Amino acid sequence: MSNTLVMKFGGTSVGSAPAIRQLVAITRAAQADWPRVIVIVSAMSGVTDTLLKGAAQAAAGDESVPDRLAEQLRARHNATLDELAGEGQAADARAVIDGLLGEFHALCHAVRVLGEASPRALDTIASFGERMSAPLVTAALNAAGLPAAAVDSARVVVTDAVYQSATPDMDATAARAAEVLEPLLAAGRVPVVTGFIGATPAGVVTTLGRGGSDFSAAIFGVALGAAEVWIWTDVNGVMTADPRIVPEARTLPVLTFREISELAFYGAKVLHPKTIRPVVERRAALWVKNTFNPGGPATRVIPDNGHAAGSVRSVTAFRGQCILTLEGRGMLGIPGIAARTFAAVARTGTSVAMISQASSEQSICFVVPCPSTAAVVRALEDEFRLELARRDIDSITSSPESAVVTVVGAGMKHTPGIAGKIFSALGQAGVNVAAIAQGSSECSISLVVAAADADAAVRAVHTLVQTD
Ligand code: ASP
Ligand code: MG
Repeated sequence: MSNTLVMKFGGTSVGSAPAIRQLVAITRAAQADWPRVIVIVSAMSGVTDTLLKGAAQAAAGDESVPDRLAEQLRARHNATLDELAGEGQAADARAVIDGLLGEFHALCHAVRVLGEASPRALDTIASFGERMSAPLVTAALNAAGLPAAAVDSARVVVTDAVYQSATPDMDATAARAAEVLEPLLAAGRVPVVTGFIGATPAGVVTTLGRGGSDFSAAIFGVALGAAEVWIWTDVNGVMTADPRIVPEARTLPVLTFREISELAFYGAKVLHPKTIRPVVERRAALWVKNTFNPGGPATRVIPDNGHAAGSVRSVTAFRGQCILTLEGRGMLGIPGIAARTFAAVARTGTSVAMISQASSEQSICFVVPCPSTAAVVRALEDEFRLELARRDIDSITSSPESAVVTVVGAGMKHTPGIAGKIFSALGQAGVNVAAIAQGSSECSISLVVAAADADAAVRAVHTLVQTD
């Protein structure tokens, strides 16, 4: 409904009492403008990792580590609760947290006995983070005089049974969302919903994948027909570059869906495209905002409208990559070499970040994560044993560690000479480019440079950025 706002708060935004105070203030301010506000929360920062580490230790035969971790989690949640809510107001949350940590203990025991944790068990264990943070945030809102109610999204988000990466059934979810949330909204309460989790139709808990609470925000935004979805994080929206590398990096006020997809693919820590597509397609407004600077710069994500202004918008470096090159004059015109190459790579389970082939067809080069290089080279030597023996392929070589520097901007395709500008900026910075590929969408250009040149390359290209 056009009067509905969904706000998602990430791990650092619920990671401490001061952060949750910010959340409370932001929610109070939002309520002044929006009759219906839904809050989605992540687990407190680091908690999902801690829970999964406990499960892994249990699977390895150790129960003392998970028990110690449970005590740390209990202490952290309770201390935060104490800072935010009085004894009486905190009682419900404390009981839920105790119950969940008891369950965590029992599950880790079972995992140790079995000697393994199934994906299904891991999802239940991982779900505890959000199931603890939601009651905690609810208590804080109630204590601040904002009536709120915790909602376990396992009751609402209906998914398939693909554990650790479940997909929602949107129709079933929309029906449940109305059933569970409408009465709360009608009673003037803010639903505080667990991000990240759902359940199968039979009620078994699933998760939407790591970082899945952004996906939850999109799911609830679509299910409730929200006018806007705001993702609250700990940086000023999406930046033109990593500010640790480029001090003058700034917030992009607007970014298209395709641009954000390219950035996510090349390792920038932004919204995962899969998770936000539903909201963007519905043309609901999607914002990325900073919990710790609520009135500061923010980014609006818009659909691809073909009218993207500007040229270079953002530049990222994707590190730890190695270039593999297949070379040989005998490759010329032989059909199927590329298909066999990438089939062999796929068999090793390696994902390829970038491909480029010389037009002479005498070489194919592509980029894989360095730790996979040895396995990929072996797979290729196997696949092309005959061609290597016949010298149709002369060599299969790998480069030292490199970085893929990706320049993103939907407007680049309407801007002649942009590649030339990028190359002269790199040339002036003394950066050598080992390989280049243009994204088929023409919304990105990727360049491979030596690992040691990555920062200089990002800074050089950043001089071409236009944000308006
Ligand atoms: N807590 C989950 C994770 O750490 C989901 C999220 O924070 O988005 O992956
Ligand atoms: Mg996240």
